Amino acid sequence: MKIGVFVCHCGSNIAGTVDVASVAEQARNLPNVAFSTDTMYTCSEPGQDEIVQAIKEHGLDGVVVASCTPRMHEPTFRKTVERAGLNRYMFEMANIREHVSWIGKDKEANTRKALDLVSMAVAKLANDRVLTPSKFDINKRVLVIGGGVAGIQAALDCADGGLEVVLVEKTSTIGGKMAKLDKTFPTIDCSSCILGPKMVDVAQHPNITLYACSEVGDISGYVGNFNVSITKKATYVDWDACTGCGQCTEKCPSKKATDHFNEEIGTTTAINIPFPQAIPKKASIDPEFCIKLTKGKCGVCEKVCPTQAIRYDQQDEKVEEAVGAIIVATGYDLFDWTRYGEYGGGRYPDVITSLQYERLLSASGPTGGHVTRPSDGKEPETVVFIQCVGSRDKSVDRPYCSGFCCMYTAKQAILTKDHMPESQSYVFYMDIRAPGKMYDEFTRRAMEEYGTKYIRGRVAMIYPKGDKYVVRGSDTLLGTQVEVEADLVVLAVGAEAAKGAPQLAEKLRISYDSYGFYMESHIKLRPVETNTAGVYLAGSCQGPKDIPASVAQGSAAASKVQNLFSRDQLESDPQISQVDIKRCIGCGKCIQTCPFGAIEEMDFRGATKAHVIETVCQGCGICTSTCPQGAIQLQHFTDNQILAEVNALCQPTTILNYE
Ligand SMILES: Cc1cc2nc3c(=O)[nH]c(=O)nc-3n(C[C@H](O)[C@H](O)[C@H](O)COP(=O)(O)OP(=O)(O)OC[C@H]3O[C@@H](n4cnc5c(N)ncnc54)[C@H](O)[C@@H]3O)c2cc1C
Ligand code: SF4
Ligand code: SF4
Repeated sequence: MKIGVFVCHCGSNIAGTVDVASVAEQARNLPNVAFSTDTMYTCSEPGQDEIVQAIKEHGLDGVVVASCTPRMHEPTFRKTVERAGLNRYMFEMANIREHVSWIGKDKEANTRKALDLVSMAVAKLANDRVLTPSKFDINKRVLVIGGGVAGIQAALDCADGGLEVVLVEKTSTIGGKMAKLDKTFPTIDCSSCILGPKMVDVAQHPNITLYACSEVGDISGYVGNFNVSITKKATYVDWDACTGCGQCTEKCPSKKATDHFNEEIGTTTAINIPFPQAIPKKASIDPEFCIKLTKGKCGVCEKVCPTQAIRYDQQDEKVEEAVGAIIVATGYDLFDWTRYGEYGGGRYPDVITSLQYERLLSASGPTGGHVTRPSDGKEPETVVFIQCVGSRDKSVDRPYCSGFCCMYTAKQAILTKDHMPESQSYVFYMDIRAPGKMYDEFTRRAMEEYGTKYIRGRVAMIYPKGDKYVVRGSDTLLGTQVEVEADLVVLAVGAEAAKGAPQLAEKLRISYDSYGFYMESHIKLRPVETNTAGVYLAGSCQGPKDIPASVAQGSAAASKVQNLFSRDQLESDPQISQVDIKRCIGCGKCIQTCPFGAIEEMDFRGATKAHVIETVCQGCGICTSTCPQGAIQLQHFTDNQILAEVNALCQPTTILNYE
């Protein structure tokens, strides 16, 4: 076998701490190596051309590139060797950047390690064989999980492009947080006026099937062919019959149910429609507060409903959907600020969250847009906003910036003045982060035009004084302690990963960071893709994002799906497990271990054998270590190849220039 080795400088990324010329020179002495060189940027056009030329000139059978992570450039180099006429799987990569040059400064040790990795890749490649992918059909339907603005945008873009969309929302209406906002920065346009029409489009679009009050259960399959089980939660109302007339909500005697839509400011009825513009506009019963469901009495809604839609015996229902791609848009939740004991820990009624304040400002909110204190219904004269509550604070394990709080605080200060011209707003802040288009101008407007007083410093404590609250903090610009007497305190609570995000990630087999936000495939170059083919991200589920960024990501994820579905067939990765029928004793251990359900029993001349379903196997290799007979081998990661790598690693390395 004739192998070519290309050792990349990656500018100074690798060459800064690895003697790449020496690695290339030494690689020439490795068994099967017919050509070896070092190149400045192997992934560049001249770098790739050099590989093509060397394959042709030296009649190479396979290529090793020692450079960066295969995550990024393995597909690039597979295409390169294919251009020169080789099978694309006759290629191996040694990661001497992330695994060597970026993690150590000792040039001699790095150079040794780089050569070790190159020898291992060469030994593995010598045992590679030509592999051919097979083709399979794509199911051109897409599942969108989460009906906030990002999910809505993704669903509409896919549906407008002719794709069938299944949209799953866990609450009883789509709209997410944006549906709860009064007005939006930086233009102060009414949130429901810009979101409402999009929500209606979702309801009316012939290509969109909406499951509200629903959650995704098991997900099996692979890119192009996922099977998803969806649980439709019991709402105790037949939504096909319900017309959303609201007669039940008017008559329901149970009026102390938790008002989730209004962020628990006030209460609602046990049967309710969250807000007038809800989509779908259907009633649902909160079983915790329904007198009929808890005590067996009442039944008023059943009597008044003109369409006989009430079903007290309704149960959760499971439906199955088959889709080819999935967009995750599950958004964010708000940090539980009651962990801040110094701000009252939830004991003071007039210390509220920013989202509660949005509901107070909103004309469709519990007070009809009249800003009043929850404790006594009085209009506040002095409103104090405190930023970074649960953001940029290591003491509560939230060191990251929530991105949009500086901006919505400025917006809320402006709206406060609009609602109550005599009021005075104060903002305690750490820094003002306003990097978007027209954002800096917007925060300046809050200060200069609307007279909001910004105080740079953290608030140490809030305590009641009469019917007011004293907000005590420091002004780090003046170097003094400050105290402001407030009628109402609004906390700009930070964003955190949506509840259940890690559990959903496990089902989708995607990664999440230490805070539960989903990880993109590449932070700069593949921001809406995940490492699971066919699963994409949109909006704040990937990290806090404002509306423009969430909408942009929703559209980006939709365009990725359109791109995927532009072909009729996809190719499967042939680097999967294969059963040696002669060795297999049909014990079924592999079937039990495979996390993807990719192995099934088959009958072979009257004997039970294991069979790998090519399109389902993800090449994880767990089965190979389970099989007591060693009958399953993962293509290109066979026992022989791994032993060859170990053997190469155990050979003494002599590095030129360092002895
Ligand atoms: C007080 C406040 C004011 C704001 N003001 C502005 C503003 O003026 N301008 C601006 O640009 N931004 C503003 N924002 C930010 C804005 O809320 C976000 O940019 C936007 O909501 C992000 O949309 P999203 O779709 O990613 O997430 P979300 O709005 O959180 O929507 C996610 C949706 O997914 C659903 N979901 C979650 N988990 C699941 C699951 N497992 N299965 C099914 N469904 C699920 C949720 O119920 C929700 O409907 C503000 C934020 C706050 C807190
Ligand atoms: S009365 Fe009946 S139709 Fe009207 S909103 Fe209630 S459940 Fe729906
Ligand atoms: S049965 Fe339950 S939901 Fe219906 S009216 Fe009575 S309390 Fe309200």
